[in-house]
Amino acid sequence: MDMADAAVIKQHLIDPEICIRCNTCEATCPVQAITHDSRNYVVDADKCNFCMACIPPCPTGSIDNWRTLPRIKAYGLAEQLGWDELPAELSPEQMAESGVAADAMPVAEPAAASASASATTGSEAAFNSAQYNATLPPWSAAHAYVNLYGPKAAEKSVTATVTGNVRVTEVGREYDTHHVVLDFGTMPFPVLEGQSIGIVPPGTDAGGRPHHARQYSIASPRNGERPGYNNLSLTIKRVLEDHQGQPVRGVASNYMCDLKVGDTVQVIGPFGTTFLMPNHPKSHLVMICTGTGSAPMRAMTEWRRRLRQSGKFEGGKLMLFFGARTKEELPYFGPLQNLPKDFIDINFAFSRTQGQPKRYVQHTMAERAADLAALLADPNACFYVCGLKAMEEGVVATLRDIARGAGMDWDTVGATLKREGRLHLETY
Ligand SMILES: Cc1cc2nc3c(=O)[nH]c(=O)nc-3n(C[C@H](O)[C@H](O)[C@H](O)COP(=O)(O)OP(=O)(O)OC[C@H]3O[C@@H](n4cnc5c(N)ncnc54)[C@H](O)[C@@H]3O)c2cc1C
Ligand code: SF4
Ligand code: SF4
Repeated sequence: MDMADAAVIKQHLIDPEICIRCNTCEATCPVQAITHDSRNYVVDADKCNFCMACIPPCPTGSIDNWRTLPRIKAYGLAEQLGWDELPAELSPEQMAESGVAADAMPVAEPAAASASASATTGSEAAFNSAQYNATLPPWSAAHAYVNLYGPKAAEKSVTATVTGNVRVTEVGREYDTHHVVLDFGTMPFPVLEGQSIGIVPPGTDAGGRPHHARQYSIASPRNGERPGYNNLSLTIKRVLEDHQGQPVRGVASNYMCDLKVGDTVQVIGPFGTTFLMPNHPKSHLVMICTGTGSAPMRAMTEWRRRLRQSGKFEGGKLMLFFGARTKEELPYFGPLQNLPKDFIDINFAFSRTQGQPKRYVQHTMAERAADLAALLADPNACFYVCGLKAMEEGVVATLRDIARGAGMDWDTVGATLKREGRLHLETY
């Protein structure tokens, strides 16, 4: 049914008190339902089709807000642009005033709310991976600080100094990924593995407005790229063509990849309260990534490696599924090869190796179905997916197929992973 026909809807709204105006949702939305002015980011109720594509990449969770209300009372764009805070849910009396019973079910509602309904159909068309994304961190995750710097904070940004910038992919024509180290000096910037930061590129866009910040996942562990120092690393791919393959020079990625040691950068953040690792002994990590999606996986792996080295971790499995076009384009390929086999179980998938059939991460996951099925059934296992947007659906569908192949009910498994904060998606 078309949204316009629905008597009661769950309207998608953005919390103006938490939103940091990073533009990620607007860039992600496939139907241009999100727009903004200098004040607020807002969702057009007539355009939003509840695809949930904007939910996983939002760094603050402010995008994940819904209000049940009569269709005729849907909040318009102008109204939302004027808000300082979200309106409360309508009272039963207010619903009744519009001729709607308070317990009337919304005809159109977000996929997350109808997760089990669509999953039970079993059809690929109905499969919506985003609905399984956890909105809570694993129970043993450490407390994450967020938004210490940004539009809503006392300090709008913090200055970091570049202390390293090296290329981590082999020199190739199209793919150029850098490992950039930023130092915060004496300024507080506590982070956890899985969080991201925002980089504010200098200058203005074509319309003369200051560039919006771009998000980058932190690639180093909580105690710094160099242990005990107030620094962190990023894994940044230089964008030289857009998603359609047209030549374009990405503003922030090129700025970052060209920085020299000693340069300074304006940073906002940190962001992210859910894509966090478990800290309890014997918790397992299943990390599935492509390209720069390896950044948070590097952070988690390195933290576990440091704990193990100091004898402070009792074990727990680490499984990595890592996809790239070729091994030359795979960031950190060399260092990954040097990690002990009894520490991490690494599975590579290359889609463009000459003379070899195309292999994507899902293929390697299917090959390891027995091990993954055991981890899907294990309450101590957490699953992380990061990288290209295009990978997400196939990866989650493969987890579903593996669960079913092992005789498990995916509805139950998927819902449990989400509820217990054990499946996290961050694709862009
Ligand atoms: C939560 C999150 C974490 C992220 N982590 C990382 C990370 O660790 N490393 C990293 O390199 N990037 C990461 N990104 C992507 C990053 O934020 C930028 O989108 C990316 O660097 C492009 O920015 P730009 O300013 O260079 O390009 P823009 O100037 O913003 O865009 C130029 C053009 O390229 C298109 N485009 C944007 N991004 C890409 C892309 N990745 N591939 C192809 N075309 C693109 C745009 O649609 C536009 O047409 C992350 C994004 C999110 C939401
Ligand atoms: S749920 Fe989908 S359609 Fe709606 S605003 Fe988010 S990305 Fe756009
Ligand atoms: S992605 Fe989230 S924080 Fe960023 S502009 Fe959209 S709602 Fe705001």
